[in-house]
Amino acid sequence: MGKNIAIDGPAGAGKSTIAKSLAKKLGYIYVDTGAMYRAMALYMLRKGISADDTAGIESACTEADVSIVYADGEQQVILNGENVNGLIRTEEVGNMASASSVNPKVREKMTELQRKLASEADVVMDGRDIGTFVLPNADVKIYLTASIEERARRRALEYEKKGMPADIEQIAKDIAERDYRDMHREHAPLRQAEDATLVDTSDMSIEEVEARLMELCGAQKNGGKSDFFA
Ligand code: C5P
Repeated sequence: MGKNIAIDGPAGAGKSTIAKSLAKKLGYIYVDTGAMYRAMALYMLRKGISADDTAGIESACTEADVSIVYADGEQQVILNGENVNGLIRTEEVGNMASASSVNPKVREKMTELQRKLASEADVVMDGRDIGTFVLPNADVKIYLTASIEERARRRALEYEKKGMPADIEQIAKDIAERDYRDMHREHAPLRQAEDATLVDTSDMSIEEVEARLMELCGAQKNGGKSDFFA
């Protein structure tokens, strides 16, 4: 069993940026579980399966093979043999991922893959249900959040940097809808695990968040004087 760090939180809280840099500093593998749900969603969109088509979503679970490989330290999601990394970061795919991830069959398939990855290597894994459901025995659990306004602002900046159109009000609306769905679904809803530490990044710089997380990784293991990173 590898060492496991679980980072959960709502959309746009900065999980992937922080988890990626934390993993690099620790020499761990970064696992972005949202990307797996997005790859499944891309498959469904391509097949014309709608968010309310339960039978279609469930058959997609048997037809779509999702796996993860690493190239230059970056996670690549492979969907039926095709690298789809460049195709999954759109609002359309994100919204379909949010809608289809309420389905227990989809969750079961993704959870199995995530647990396998965590058992084989030291990982920093981010998502919605990592500390509560996927890796309940994770060594460190962090719940990362920020205000909706700040999260929408960050997402809009990300899109603008990629030359994609960004309507900040629409993004805030989508984020609020996604939060609601993620927090109220029946299976593995988004919530802070009892033994997770809350980090609200609304007024923090990336460097401050990184420093706080490094501190939490050390402190939670052994009262602040840990050999966790050894
Ligand atoms: O984090 P990201 O926005 O890429 O995730 C896309 C969607 O996948 C989320 O809105 C959420 O509904 C779903 N998801 C999930 N459980 C995870 C990771 C993502 O339900 N562990």
